[in-house]
Amino acid sequence: MNIHDSERVAGLLEREGWVESEPEAADAVILITCCVRDSAERKLYGKLSELRAVKDKTGALIAVGGCLAQKEGEGLRRRAPYVDLVFGTHQYPAIPLLLSQAAQGAVTSISMEGPALRDLPCKRREGFRSWVAITNGCDNLCSYCVVPRVRGEERSRPMHEIVEEVGRHVADGVREVNLLGQNVNSYRRKEEGKSRFADLLRSLGSAYPRVWFRFTTSHPKDFDLEVMRAVADTPGVCEYVHLPLQAGSDRVLEAMNRGYGREEYLEKARSLREVVEGAALSTDIIVGFPGEREKDFQATLEMVELCRFEAAFTFIFNPRPGTPAALLEDDVPPEVKRERMQRLTGLTRLLTARALQAEVGKEREALVHGPSHRDPGFWTARTRRNFPLHFQRGSQDLTGRFVRVRVTGAGSWSLRGVLLGVID
Ligand code: SF4
Repeated sequence: MNIHDSERVAGLLEREGWVESEPEAADAVILITCCVRDSAERKLYGKLSELRAVKDKTGALIAVGGCLAQKEGEGLRRRAPYVDLVFGTHQYPAIPLLLSQAAQGAVTSISMEGPALRDLPCKRREGFRSWVAITNGCDNLCSYCVVPRVRGEERSRPMHEIVEEVGRHVADGVREVNLLGQNVNSYRRKEEGKSRFADLLRSLGSAYPRVWFRFTTSHPKDFDLEVMRAVADTPGVCEYVHLPLQAGSDRVLEAMNRGYGREEYLEKARSLREVVEGAALSTDIIVGFPGEREKDFQATLEMVELCRFEAAFTFIFNPRPGTPAALLEDDVPPEVKRERMQRLTGLTRLLTARALQAEVGKEREALVHGPSHRDPGFWTARTRRNFPLHFQRGSQDLTGRFVRVRVTGAGSWSLRGVLLGVID
């Protein structure tokens, strides 16, 4: 979502005649922020003190936008008074105006009124891949999460507007579209009384049959058979689902206010693998939530084994001010959190390595992202199941092309293969 927000701010400013440059040569430096974890918050203030030195030399305006700006408001300028503009998650369309106002004197604009979701111009970092927000905000109240406070209530864009926007991306050469929302599975439920996410997937798949679609994030309580069937029946929708589990114990899930229990999650994970052939499943897990006992953590490990996640993103609990969980006693000692984290990542790494190993010998379709950063003699691609895949470069530029590759080897995080042919 942050990448997408940054692309929209860049697109809007470009339309007004601004051009992108390095901070040292810029008239304005804009940071788009995240506040989900405090590491991102610490990084912001570190970066701001670096930018202060730049501002002293060049006089550039410094602007901070996005979730943290929304959460902190004027407080951000109290900590970093040299910041000229603080703008929230609903102010992106006004950014050109706000920058010109900030040139006259510091501005803070964090009202939640007005449409955050609009079809704004976008300056994409990659020509072959795009992000499209289908909802913004969240109506769930997970006890550890600050997102509803900074993104506001859930709002869904009309389906025709999304289909049209995707059409423009496709006309520009985009091959993979990533649909974004805090909970894509409740798309249009508030507006139409029923989720239309499965319909959206089918509509996009039939309008643009040569494009790949991915989506994030799914909420386990709303991820249902209808969506699974739409993934299975729509060839363009990749068979990869990110479904955050967060914890494997019912007691902790309840304290997190997640709205589902372990049996419900397990049932959905099983159904997904039955309904969608070859589905890959990834997840997020929080370790050391207040009150998490060894027994609860064991339940998480057990769920990880039962679900056989292809990938897992694991985090140590860290209270976010203003959330209900921040009022709970953070009673799991840091060394216990770290030790549980090690056990968990030991298991998730093993499962990922096994899943990668199972790919060896298979032929897979992949989208080429560009030359490998680690080894420029290789291309980096992603398979439909979202595994990174590397194969040797020849003379032809394959960036943004669909290819067929035979998988010949697997490492801890990625696959190796040989090119069989270019599909499209
Ligand atoms: S579903 Fe829960 S974790 Fe996700 S954005 Fe909404 S409140 Fe946060």
